[in-house]
Formats: sequence, C-alpha cells, structure tokens
Amino acid sequence: MTDDQTPVRDAATGSDWFLPSPDTVASALAGLARAHGASLSVSLDPAHVLATSPDPARRVALVSGGGSGHEPLHTGFVGRGGLDAAVPGQVFASPHNRQVHAAARAAAKPGGVLLVVKNYTGDVINFGIAAERLRAEGVEVETVLVDDDLATEVEGSATGRRGTGATVLVEKVLGAAADRGASLAELADLGRRVVAASRSLAVATRAHTVPGGTGPAFELSGEELEHGVGIHGERAVSTVERRPAAEVVDRVVGQLLEHVPAGEEGFAVLVNGLGAATGLELHAVLDRVVTDLGERGAPVAAAFAGTYVAALDMRGFSVTLTALEPGWLELLRAPTATALPVAEPVGTGPAAPASGDTDRSGGGENAFVSGLEALVARLHDVLTRLDRVGGDGDFGDNLASGVRAAARRAPGDGAVAGLRAAEGAFLDDVGGSSGPLFGLVLQQVRTAFEAGEPGADALRAGLREAAAAVTRVGGAQPGERTMLDALVAGAGAGGGLADVVRAAAGGADATAAMTPRRGRASYVGERAVGTADAGAVGVALVLAALADAVEPAGDLASELAGRWG
Ligand code: ADP
Ligand code: MG
Repeated sequence: MTDDQTPVRDAATGSDWFLPSPDTVASALAGLARAHGASLSVSLDPAHVLATSPDPARRVALVSGGGSGHEPLHTGFVGRGGLDAAVPGQVFASPHNRQVHAAARAAAKPGGVLLVVKNYTGDVINFGIAAERLRAEGVEVETVLVDDDLATEVEGSATGRRGTGATVLVEKVLGAAADRGASLAELADLGRRVVAASRSLAVATRAHTVPGGTGPAFELSGEELEHGVGIHGERAVSTVERRPAAEVVDRVVGQLLEHVPAGEEGFAVLVNGLGAATGLELHAVLDRVVTDLGERGAPVAAAFAGTYVAALDMRGFSVTLTALEPGWLELLRAPTATALPVAEPVGTGPAAPASGDTDRSGGGENAFVSGLEALVARLHDVLTRLDRVGGDGDFGDNLASGVRAAARRAPGDGAVAGLRAAEGAFLDDVGGSSGPLFGLVLQQVRTAFEAGEPGADALRAGLREAAAAVTRVGGAQPGERTMLDALVAGAGAGGGLADVVRAAAGGADATAAMTPRRGRASYVGERAVGTADAGAVGVALVLAALADAVEPAGDLASELAGRWG
C-alpha cells in the first residue's frame, strides 16, 4: 500500500471513525507506547503489551486479553498492581494463541503464569491452546475463567455466561495479591472465588457505531431499552420499554441480588460505562445503586463508577455486584499504577445543603415580580430562540427561573421590595452568565431607587451604575452585543420612565447589527449578526415590568411583548 492510500477511511466513506491508519489496533498500541514510555513495552508482531517495572515481590505473572474495543480493559490494566501482560485481538475478536503464547513467555515468572480469560469461545480456545503450548514448554499455567453476565445465564447452555464487568474486579484483586507474592495456586483459587461471587447485568439505549462505518450496530427506538445487552453488540434477550433510570437500576439490582451470594463483608459495586455513557451519568447511577442496595439491606463496602469495559461507543452501563470475602476489600484498596479502580471507603452521600438566606419579608405578591413573571412567560420562546443563535438556548429558562425564585421570596409591596427579592434570587439562585449579571443590575437599580425617588432619574442613575458594574465583572464594552448595550442605551435616555424603557429596547434591537465579542456568542462570530442579543432583550423586559409597577397606568409590558412576540 502506498502512502497516499493509507487513510483508508476518509470523508468520502462517510465513516464516523477516527482512523489514522488501516490497522486501528496497531495504531492504538503505538499510541499506548507513546503515552507510557516508562511502564509499558509494546510489541506489534505478535501484538502484546508488557509491564516493564512490575513489583519485584511478584512470583506469578498475570496475563489477560481479548478482543479490542473494550478499553481500558485489558491493555490499560497492565502495570504495577495490575497485569504483567495483555494481548489485544482485533476489534471484538479473540487474540491469536500465538499472541497469548508470546506474551506469557515474555512475562512468565518463576511461579508460573495465570491467564485471566473472559468466557467467549474464541478466547477460551486461543488461551487454551497457548496454555497447552506453555505447559509443554515447562511453564506452570493456571486459568481463571470470568463468566459473570447474568443475562446469559441460560439453563442447559453449554457456552455458559459471558465474561464482562467482573473482569475488572478480578484483575484488580489478583494484581494486588500477586504483588504480595501469592502463589499460582493461591491466585487461581482467589480469582475463581471472585468470579463465583460476582454477577453483572448491562443495559443500553444505543448500540455501538459499526467499525469503519456509520450508524449503530442495531436500531433501538427512543422508547426501547436493551436489557441484558452484551459487550460486542450482542442484542439482549429482551428489548423492554424505556423507563426512568431509577427504575432501570432498581430492576437490575434486584436481579443481581437474586444471583450473588450473601456478602459477609458487604458488596463491591461497579457501575461500568459501555463507552458512550458519561461520567456524569455513571456517578448518578452509582448513587442510585448504592442507595437501592442500602434500602434492600445490602451493605456496600466498595463503590466504583467509570468506563472500564467499553463496548466501543455503546450508550449504556453495566452493574457488577461482588459479594466480598474477608481480605478482598484490602486488595481492592491497594494502589495501582494502571487504569484499574482503587477502592476508597464508601461515602455516606452528600452533606446537607447550607440553609440559604432567602430574605423573606413575609409579604405576598409583588407587582414588579408578578408583572415580570407574566412578561417572561409570554416571551420565553422568543428568548430561547435568540439565545440559540448566539448561545446555547437557555437564556429564557435562566430568566424565568430567576423570576420564579424571586416570587418564592414573597417580597410584599413596592418596587424596592420587588427589586430586592429579584436581586437576591438572581445573585444566589440563577446560573448561566446572565443570572448573576442581572442580579448586579437589579442591585444597582434598587440602590438608586432607595437613594432617590423611584422614577426616571433614579432609574437612569441605577442603569449607569449597573453598566459600570457589568463592565467591571464581565469586561464588555458598548457595541460588543451584550446586555450592556441595553443598559447603556437606557442610562443615556432623557424623558420619563417609558422613554428610558423604550431606549433600552432600542439598544437591544441595535445589538442585531453588532458582531459579538463577549460570552458564548463570540464563538459564532458573524453568524449571530442579524439577531438581537437575548440578554439585552431581557434587560428591556425587566425595565418594562419595573416601569409598569412604578407607574401602573402604563403598559410597557404589552408594548414590548408586541415588539418581540
Ligand atoms: P450562558 O452563556 O452561560 O448560557 P445566558 O444564556 O444565561 O448565559 O445569558 C446569555 C447572555 O449573557 C447574553 O445574551 C449576553 O447578553 C450576556 N452576557 C454574556 N457574557 C457577557 C459579558 N461578558 N458581559 C455582559 N453580558 C454578557
Ligand atoms: Mg445561554
């Protein structure tokens, strides 16, 4: 193959995959060698990964492997506290016995070699042949077969359960025990016990992307969940209706508990991502699993969440439960220099929330706050659309949530009381860039209203101070397409309250001609031109509601709703 043919999957093929060379596995191994020059050595023919500085106390070498696409399993588990060698096959395909043999020969120690094999036919055969060859050459070999997948527990099946998430805990425990100088017989017995004490179950909402192609390996509708899915795109025995995550977790945990022995030392829990589940989700699922087990009277002694056994980019997770025997927790807690997880004491959950100062004056509805609430509700979709052009589309939600939080503070009567409630709510309770900035604006206007008489002069003074504060914090200058442009236009207007509000609205409209230089909108640049800035429109709405509260005869809210609605 010539150089110009090398990127075999380019834009023309429409592949979703990032493959700089035709042999994905070899390139990934090369990258592994680049990243771990001090602890790994990588061979490409036959492909295997060796630990270069194993613990000197080790008497037995731990060797594992299997198809690629499950990273960090197994290549990421090579090193101190983990494996001595790993053999990766092609994606989802068993390694060749020649690879296993070469890796085991290179890694072998005086006490022999322990092979950790996931229960798939190809792996069982190739590791089995390698074991025969090694024994014939005088190397002592034992094998631990991992078969934890509850979904494949079928009576009368000759192939038996698949090996999945428990492999992580098996390899962690064995790695720590090997570092303590355990013998081959001890390690084999320990590994088999951990397997027997472990069961896993996996669910997914989307299959992995077909290697080299586009799109998922199998189709699931938005209403379907694959319950009991495998790690190679094997569909589950059942496709079930998608339910809220807590219900899915509850069902999985219930099924697992029926099949693991009672843990005299508690359980280890592993919530494992299948490739495209986020760390955010996996930790949320872990919390639910631990809570659920607690409610069922099953104590958790070790809890892990992360992507350890992927199925390429499948969107799903597996849960593994291991009923711990005495001494195992200590092994799970032992340090490792690999991607294997290290157990910490299980936390009791989040600390109680600080009781926030909600600044309640005990009053009821406030004309400014309720007027603004109604106006924001009317224009919510408009604000969302505006923020979608230059941002992420959450501005309408942010503004609405601030006004709701202000109403919850039950401010009582008067513009100042309403401003004070809104100021506190926006400063304390609202996210995004705009929330706290609106809090500052409201604070300055409230201060000006308290210093003078609520009216046009005080509003102008407040807006001047507000503009200065927004620039101090956010760095924006006039003309950069932010809320500042509405504030500055309002501050500079003569006349009465209505004139100030209309000037601010005009300032908001003028932002449509500006190239954004602040906030998220700056990332889209010229693309935002032609659309007004959401925050600037929001400022005008706030001022309209305020003016209507101070001068109930006016109806600037309707005027602005008509202008943008
Ligand atoms: P986020 O960008 O975090 O999603 P929001 O959607 O709540 O924030 O608010 C977006 C608005 O915030 C913009 O329309 C703009 O008016 C305002 N904004 C963003 N950055 C600045 C800044 N540096 N100074 C003043 N206003 C800003
Ligand atoms: Mg936004």
